[in-house]
Parts: sequence; structure tokens; C-alpha cells
Amino acid sequence: MPDQIADVIVVGAGNAAFCAALAAQERGAKVLMLEAAPEDEAGGNSRFTAGSIRVVYKGMDDIKTLVPDLTPAEIESTDFGTYTADQFFDDMARVTQHRADPDLVELLVTRSFDTLNWMREKGVRLIPIYGRQAFKVGGRFKFWGGLTVEAVGGGPGLVAMLTAAARQRGIEIRYRTRALALLCDGNRVEGVRVRSDGAMQELRANAVVLACGGFEANAEWRTRYLGPGWDLAKVRGSRFNTGDGIRMALAIGASPRGNWSGCHAVQWEMNAPEFGDLAVGDQFQKHSYPFGILINVTGQRFVDEGADFRNYTYAKYGRVVLEQPGQFAWQVFDQKVKHLLRDEYKIRQITKVAANTIEELAQKLEGVNATAFLRTIREWNATVQTGVPFNPNVKDGRGTQGLAVNKSNWANTIDAPPFEAYAVTCGVTFTFGGLRINNDGAVLNTDYQPVGGLYAAGELVGGLFYFNYPGGTGLMSGAVFGKIAGGSAASAGVLR
Ligand SMILES: Cc1cc2nc3c(=O)[nH]c(=O)nc-3n(C[C@H](O)[C@H](O)[C@H](O)COP(=O)(O)OP(=O)(O)OC[C@H]3O[C@@H](n4cnc5c(N)ncnc54)[C@H](O)[C@@H]3O)c2cc1C
Repeated sequence: MPDQIADVIVVGAGNAAFCAALAAQERGAKVLMLEAAPEDEAGGNSRFTAGSIRVVYKGMDDIKTLVPDLTPAEIESTDFGTYTADQFFDDMARVTQHRADPDLVELLVTRSFDTLNWMREKGVRLIPIYGRQAFKVGGRFKFWGGLTVEAVGGGPGLVAMLTAAARQRGIEIRYRTRALALLCDGNRVEGVRVRSDGAMQELRANAVVLACGGFEANAEWRTRYLGPGWDLAKVRGSRFNTGDGIRMALAIGASPRGNWSGCHAVQWEMNAPEFGDLAVGDQFQKHSYPFGILINVTGQRFVDEGADFRNYTYAKYGRVVLEQPGQFAWQVFDQKVKHLLRDEYKIRQITKVAANTIEELAQKLEGVNATAFLRTIREWNATVQTGVPFNPNVKDGRGTQGLAVNKSNWANTIDAPPFEAYAVTCGVTFTFGGLRINNDGAVLNTDYQPVGGLYAAGELVGGLFYFNYPGGTGLMSGAVFGKIAGGSAASAGVLR
């Protein structure tokens, strides 16, 4: 039997893993983190994020707690509004079509503020998301989507701050160390078998927290569980999240849970690489579609681009694009909305065409039936309800009427040159199926009893997200359930 190496082993080094490690350390546990990636690629999907975190807040005072260095000018010029627990509950219920587990959602929502504040106390600095989540109205910024703060430096900043916090507290992180199997005496997990720099090793501990992501970077599992065609999706983030944590736990009798055929997937630059590129981060995404239209190769629209705010549709529209012939689409805009396009439309690594006439644009949209496209634009322009005022801050009800696929909000005629179009395909973010946990973060077996010494947090927890997802919830769920799992794992370690 190998020697015990730590009280708690945390598998992974993304946001959920760091929150678990910090919570376990806080309870007095000696913690070892295992990260499959080398240090320069470490941090999982968390590092690829914008660092935006969905949190309940009651108003300016709560924002000031989370962002103590808010300047007087920012306070004066910003309407932060509120994001109440009821709104978060409603958003989770609505976008998951009432499938999300009520106990998990309750923990997520009611612990969100305290958990984020705890992260701040550990060293994570936050700022308001002026660039992407607020529009200026009458000289003041107004936040519109319940998503108000982000980590300083985005995902890379978040991972750097969490890494520093862990190191300051004596938590060891072993890079290039991939967990392959759980050591289990039948009833209780006693450690992990790893491949570390090419060598196999067994590492013992009193408890193990799995926080090593979903199976989004595993093309074979994607095809097996999400369905045919998903092998063709681009992976937005880490290439290391291949479903190992889920596989290891199922192998010792853990219960699967959640939307195994579902995932978070967005519109993503058509020619992006197979996996995420840390130099580009999330900028391959193209999320200003609510202000334009989407066209497939048949020259037709196929989805209500303005069904809801971007935060509540972006995570399910990647799948819609994957389902189109050729697995791609063009986002089309005219000059009237150009100023609303997010920063990600300005990067160099982009498939973009521009034209001074709509006929010229039709010729430039590679792969698209030009005649059908021109007909679509004519019909579109004739049905936009231009009498309703356009307002990007609210669901303005300015839609179309009489089209096979209507748009519900933010419809504008496409008639002001120059015109621009951006080619997008599907980028998968993370998978929704995972492991069944209880309110202590313990992994349950197929009889719904806790597997001794095994805890889980982050993407590999099933039961929270179905069909769709409210933007900014991934980091918050990793934080809340990471903190819970780490605390429970430390207690289990002490009991032994
Ligand atoms: C481009 C992009 C942008 C996003 N933007 C946001 C956003 O702004 N806000 C938000 O809330 N969410 C966002 N998300 C979703 C968010 O990234 C995830 O929900 C969240 O980061 C998941 O955290 P995690 O700790 O569970 O997983 P990860 O951060 O992916 O961490 C998993 C870790 O496990 C490691 N690992 C995997 N297998 C093994 C193994 N066998 N052994 C050891 N280590 C292993 C990985 O290397 C990694 O370190 C975004 C995702 C992407 C890809």
C-alpha cells in the first residue's frame, strides 16, 4: 500500500478545484491538487472564461462589498440594479425547463453571494463587466442581464489569483499529473492512480474531490452521448477535460445524473482550431447575433435571434448552428447596429466579409444560395415592426410579423451599407451530464448512498443544467459546490 500523501486530494486545477482545495485547507486539511495539464496550459476551462460570475446582489451596497475599489465616478455613472434570489431561481427554472434539481439550485442561488465574497477574501479581485453586460443610456451605464461582475484579468486572472491563493496557503499543485482511476476498498475511496510525467503512481488520501471537468474535449464521448455530428464541434476551451472524473466514479458504482445528451454550446468562429487557444480565449465566440440575423446555406433564417437576452440564448444556439447543413451559418449585420457589436468581432482570427450592396454581400457569402438569401432579406425588411422603438437594454418587442421564423426583439431592417457578415460554427463549452451528488457534495452510488471519501464539484456534477444555461453560472456553480465539497472532504478526513 502506498503512503498517504495528503488528507484531501483534489483532482483538477480549475475554479471548482481551487475552491475545493481552499475550503479543505481552511478546515485544517493537508491538500494536494492534481492537474493533467502542464503549468502553462493549466486552469481548465476556467482559464478560457471571461471570468464573469452570476451572483445574487441586492443593490449598490452588495456590489461595493464585492468590488471595494469601485471609484466614486463609477458609482455615480452606473445603474447596477439588483439581481435577486428570486430572479436567479426563475432564470434557472426557465432556461432548464424546470428540470434543474431544486436542492442544487437552492444551494447555488442562496450561497452565491457569500461564496463569491469568500473568494474575494481569499484574494480574487472583481470588477463590474462594463464592456459586455451594460449599455450606456442617458449618460449612465445600465446593467441588463443579471450578470454584473467578473474577475480582474478574466479567466486567466481568476486562475492566477486562485493559484496564488492556494500556494500562499501551502497547497501543492502537481502539474502533468493525470488521475486515471480511483483507489477504492469496495466502500470507500482511498486515493487515486495517476500518470505523472509518464510514470504510473498510486497516491493515498482520506478523501478525494473530483473537479476535473466534463467530457467536452472527448470527441468519442461527445458523439456517444450528445449524438451524431457532435464529433464535428469545435472545443472552446481546455483539451484536458475528457470525462476522466466521471468515468472513474462510474467505474466504482457512482450514479450518473443529469442531461447526458445536453451541453453548453455557442456560435464560434468557423475556422477556429480544434481546441481553445489561450491567446484568443473566448474571443472566437460571436455573441451579438440578437442585433442581426442568422443565415444558413439555403439562404434562409432558422432561429429567433432575439428570443431573449444573449445571456439566455447563447448557450443553446451552438447546437442550432450544428444542426444546419454544413454545420455553419453567417451572422449578418448592417451599419445601424455596428456600434453594438462586441469586442470579439474586432479580432484578426475571424471569417468576415463586407460589401456595399446587399447583392454584393450575397455573392460573398460562401456556400450560401444567393438568390434565396436576397429573397430572405426582402421579406425580412418588409416585416420588421419599425414603429416599435429599438432598445438593446430591454426586451423591446420590436420583432417581425408573418415570417416562417419570426424574430421577437431587436429586429432592424438590413438596408444601411456597408453590410458585414461573420461565419460561425458550433463551439462546445461543457457537457451537462455528470455525477449525482448530495447537499454535502458527496458522490452518490447507484443506491443513492454516499460513496465514502468521494466528493465532486464543477462541470462533472449532473442535475443543474438541462438544454440551456444562464450565462456566468458555470463559475458560480464550481465555486459554490467546490467550497461545499472541499469542506466536506476535509471533515471526512478528520473523522477517519
Ligand atoms: C471559452 C469559454 C468561456 C467561458 N466563459 C464563462 C464565463 O465567463 N463565466 C462562467 O461562469 N463560465 C464560463 N465558461 C464555463 C466555465 O469555464 C466552466 O463552467 C467552469 O470553468 C468549469 O470549472 P471546473 O473547475 O468545473 O472545470 P475546469 O475549469 O475545466 O477545470 C477542470 C480541470 O481538471 C483538469 N483535468 C481534467 N482531467 C483531469 C485528470 N484526469 N486528472 C487531473 N486533472 C484533470 C483540467 O486540466 C482542469 O484543470 C466558459 C467556458 C469556456 C470554454
